[in-house]
Amino acid sequence: MGSLQHVAVFTGSSVGHAPAYGDAAESFGRDLAEAGVGIVFGGGRVGLMGRLADGALAGGGQVHGVMPRSLVDREIAHKGLTKLQIVETMHERKAAMAAAADAFVALPGGAGTLEELFEAWTWQQLGLHDKPVALLDVDGFWKPLVRMVDHMVSTGFLAGSFRDALLVVPDAAALLAAVGAWQPPRHKWSRPEAGRLGPAPPADGWPRR
Ligand code: AMP
Repeated sequence: MGSLQHVAVFTGSSVGHAPAYGDAAESFGRDLAEAGVGIVFGGGRVGLMGRLADGALAGGGQVHGVMPRSLVDREIAHKGLTKLQIVETMHERKAAMAAAADAFVALPGGAGTLEELFEAWTWQQLGLHDKPVALLDVDGFWKPLVRMVDHMVSTGFLAGSFRDALLVVPDAAALLAAVGAWQPPRHKWSRPEAGRLGPAPPADGWPRR
């Protein structure tokens, strides 16, 4: 794919127990800013989200937060963002983040982070978008998930090409290199073995958006 201009970042509303998580989020934000890459994220000041935004702002980057109105007080909207977009629902939030980004990356986080990551990655598999999805593997945080993904491949529930399309990178420089070389996988229902992975697509095909 071409050069990366905006990356959607999914990450925790907590900071985690080890200082390495917050430090990595802040460095990641700053490194992207210094590389001229803007960030789209959940807009909060809390947890790794806040550290990420602080890092990117310190690096002079564009930081676009997208928050449902109901979370503005609870997740404490970050006051220094270059753009804060208020939406009505969680679905609108994800749609706005996806539309504004050329790639998705998950930093350490909890269930919310996984939910957002898996939507981006499964929509790539269905061909609803052709944007790379990556894990920023701070201190081996994502290793258990990658093991689970490998288990899905070995048990016949996930095509190996989809596992290969999921980038796992240690830092911003590696992300930029991996995204530059990334090619979208063949979509799920265009595969000869598609029938083994699930039901048939609708007669008129899956909507592209
Ligand atoms: P967590 O990783 O659980 O700390 O969640 C990180 C952030 O993801 C939360 O603070 C929410 O802002 C966001 N989030 C959680 N669930 C969803 C969802 N279903 N759709 C969009 N954003 C979500």
